[in-house]
Amino acid sequence: MPPVALELAYIVSGALFILGLKRLTSPATARSGNGLAAAAMLLAAVATLLDRSIVSWTTVVVALLVGTLVGVLLARLVKMTDMPQLVAIFNGFGGGASALVASAEFLRTTQTGAEPGLLVGITVAIGVLVGTVTFSGSFIAYGKLQGVVTGKPVTWPFQRTLNLLLFLGLVGVAVWMVVGPPDSALLGVLAALAFILGTFLVLPIGGADMPVVVSLLNSYSGLAASAAGFAIGNPLLVLAGALVGAAGLILTQIMCKAMNRSLANVAFGAFGGGGTAAVEDGDRTVRRTSPEEVALLLAYARTVVFVPGYGMAVAQAQHELKKLMDLLRERGVEVTFAIHPVAGRMPGHMNVLLAESDVPYDLLKDMDDANPAFQRTDVTVVVGANDVVNPLAREPDSAIAGMPILDVDHSAHVVIIKRSLSPGFAGLDNPLFYQEGSMMLFMDAKEALGALAREVKEA
Ligand code: NDP
Repeated sequence: MPPVALELAYIVSGALFILGLKRLTSPATARSGNGLAAAAMLLAAVATLLDRSIVSWTTVVVALLVGTLVGVLLARLVKMTDMPQLVAIFNGFGGGASALVASAEFLRTTQTGAEPGLLVGITVAIGVLVGTVTFSGSFIAYGKLQGVVTGKPVTWPFQRTLNLLLFLGLVGVAVWMVVGPPDSALLGVLAALAFILGTFLVLPIGGADMPVVVSLLNSYSGLAASAAGFAIGNPLLVLAGALVGAAGLILTQIMCKAMNRSLANVAFGAFGGGGTAAVEDGDRTVRRTSPEEVALLLAYARTVVFVPGYGMAVAQAQHELKKLMDLLRERGVEVTFAIHPVAGRMPGHMNVLLAESDVPYDLLKDMDDANPAFQRTDVTVVVGANDVVNPLAREPDSAIAGMPILDVDHSAHVVIIKRSLSPGFAGLDNPLFYQEGSMMLFMDAKEALGALAREVKEA
């Protein structure tokens, strides 16, 4: 391939990556943004493979077919609620791949008897270190989300000191790799220590914090890719890695803000093990309600806000919710949806599900816009959400103190659809269920919303 064609392919890819990322900022354009970025990656990979004569066209086509098949199967078979696990695996493979690319460059240089040079040495060390930490950390995160590894924080004596020693050891090996005589055995030591560090860093973090961890690891995988890009002198890999790294960091920061926690607190706080559930005092009572009663409230309300949560995803109730929304809007009820940034089990989980059922994007309100409106809301219907509406967050000494929540209890009536009084992901009891004005509709979300739609039709 002529060098100018490769450069052109890289420039087009780079521009498409940036455009794709830009389009991901709104649910209305996210799908096309994803498509653009995927096309950019395809163009970049094919151009590189052909330019370096690494493989033949036949291999490229076969790999494309196999990759497409795997992608289609994953998209069809992996449940929406299992997406965070898939993202964790992708991050892990991304980090692992970058570590391998950086290692291959080091081995290639040293086998020719040449000195790798300072820049290659440093970037190889960073690529292997960060890539391997991302690899092992992501698989532990996957295990915690999947329930294969305990969701409780795993702690042991002198944990932080041990991690610090491990980190210093890693830095020592990396420095020796860069300044000492080229030795491929050092690469193995670096990778092994980084593998242990990645495992040790994620094990003490509770399951509830995995979304932040996955997002942070995503950022690491970008950093590792960028380092690998420097090592092999590929500007597009540097750019793509930097974009992933920055995007991951921004998302991490948004999520920490949504939980009112610092990153250090997430990493070292050992929170979210599910062992902090408040004990029922037995004196409190809840007000049970029925679909008939709720349907009447909804049918004659002026303003209704739906607050979806993880239970909506489990029940796959988004289509029933859309039907109910249509019926209410036909009656002139003003309907909106209040979306908490960490509702569900992955960033944007609720947006994806509601988009799937064609709920208009302009009806989705983020937390900052939704909260002031609750005071003017006649009925708020919480559909399988729990932690994100837990008023315990307003208590200074609770485990989720300061976490921003949706102020659903400020509306005139709150209906909570869930199957029982069980706690949510954080394992905490929820005083909202016992508050005056709250009504519990103990049903599966899909069944409840279906029943509500039938009743509203008849009202
Ligand atoms: P929660 O996990 O707090 O609560 C979900 C509720 O849904 C449960 O209390 C459950 O109650 C109910 N539920 C489950 N199945 C059904 C069903 N079929 N029908 C009706 N209800 C059902 O969810 P939230 O969305 O409020 O909060 C998300 C939590 O997850 C936060 O703690 C967040 O930090 C964490 N998290 C978020 C991630 C993200 O990126 N968004 C990723 C990982 C964790 P019951 O069993 O009684 O029905």
